[in-house]
Amino acid sequence: MTEVLENASLKKYNTFGIDAKARFLVHISSANQLREYVTTGVFSNQNVLILGGGSNVLFTQDFDGWVLVNEIMGIEKVSEEDDYIMIKAAGGENWSAFVDYCVEQNWHGLENLSLIPGKLGAAPVQNIGAYGVEQCESMVCLEAMNLKTGETSIFKNEDCEFGYRSSIFKTSEKGNWVVLNVTYRLWKKQVFNLEYSPLKTAFEGISIESINLKDVSEAVKNIRRSKLPDPAIIGNAGSFFKNPIVSKEKLGNLKIRFSNIPFYEIDNNSVKIPAGWLIETCNWKGKTIGNAGVHDKQALVLVNKVNASGIEIRDLARKIQSDVLEKFSIELDPEVLIL
Ligand SMILES: Cc1cc2nc3c(=O)[nH]c(=O)nc-3n(C[C@H](O)[C@H](O)[C@H](O)COP(=O)(O)OP(=O)(O)OC[C@H]3O[C@@H](n4cnc5c(N)ncnc54)[C@H](O)[C@@H]3O)c2cc1C
Repeated sequence: MTEVLENASLKKYNTFGIDAKARFLVHISSANQLREYVTTGVFSNQNVLILGGGSNVLFTQDFDGWVLVNEIMGIEKVSEEDDYIMIKAAGGENWSAFVDYCVEQNWHGLENLSLIPGKLGAAPVQNIGAYGVEQCESMVCLEAMNLKTGETSIFKNEDCEFGYRSSIFKTSEKGNWVVLNVTYRLWKKQVFNLEYSPLKTAFEGISIESINLKDVSEAVKNIRRSKLPDPAIIGNAGSFFKNPIVSKEKLGNLKIRFSNIPFYEIDNNSVKIPAGWLIETCNWKGKTIGNAGVHDKQALVLVNKVNASGIEIRDLARKIQSDVLEKFSIELDPEVLIL
């Protein structure tokens, strides 16, 4: 077993850069090593947190328990057919580097998810998505270890109950499993999704035949860089809130007062409203309270201006939620895990 660090600073393990402490912190580099910890019983009756890149968590206090930093690495080709390839990658792999690798190999399916921070193991937990694509569209299955027994199970795509930034690992099975590896099915032929409006604009007037996979990935990266703050420069966790889903009836009522309200149709009864627009309309864009702020280019992103505490960021989020509720009667649900 590797060294267990006590009262370890979590500052470099979360992209908000919050200086909370973990009672115990350990780097997990293999499934066997994790199983050894589980079967010795050290986690029994203890809080356990699996951390990937810490790019979707906000620590508001020290973590009184075990933080397991997933560093299980490895990528392998499972099988190959004429049209597609099955590729399995370990949970500790960096997501963005994995997407770059797939793009280099000319395997299609994940390019719209280029440059999303974090590790691969968190991708199905969060069901990450961007530019009209979610990871569940390419995911075949994953292998996870039960934190109570040390046994491993395979979860097929349909077992994961994927939804918008949600999976069974955030609902009924929350905290029970560590995702060890994930298998994706990627196309060897050209299949692009350029429907999302910023991407459509980027390729306007260019014939689809002349576009290659790298062009799409680069376009996604450029759009992201122009809108989102780099956590290496200013602490943040990307979108702090989920985009709320409301009924069409509610949208109709809102349109009476806010005729320009943007929305995306989900189904016959519901629409998704951009949370960033709601926050901006409440005049929060670019505002700062103490050391916490709302990003000046994207109101959905809360930032750590300088040495903010997790509580300062959480309090700012609460103020925003309260204003949005008052103005639109919509409750904003955090996407970020607040601990
Ligand atoms: C600048 C920026 C931009 C972003 N853009 C996007 C975006 O476009 N789309 C999007 O969907 N997200 C986005 N995010 C959010 C974030 O990148 C994703 O949620 C990512 O999947 C988190 O990965 P992580 O490894 O950092 O997870 P962490 O923050 O470490 O963990 C997140 C959750 O997953 C759990 N978890 C992590 N690894 C495992 C594992 N192996 N097994 C079980 N549970 C695990 C944790 O316990 C926690 O509950 C963005 C974040 C930032 C900072």
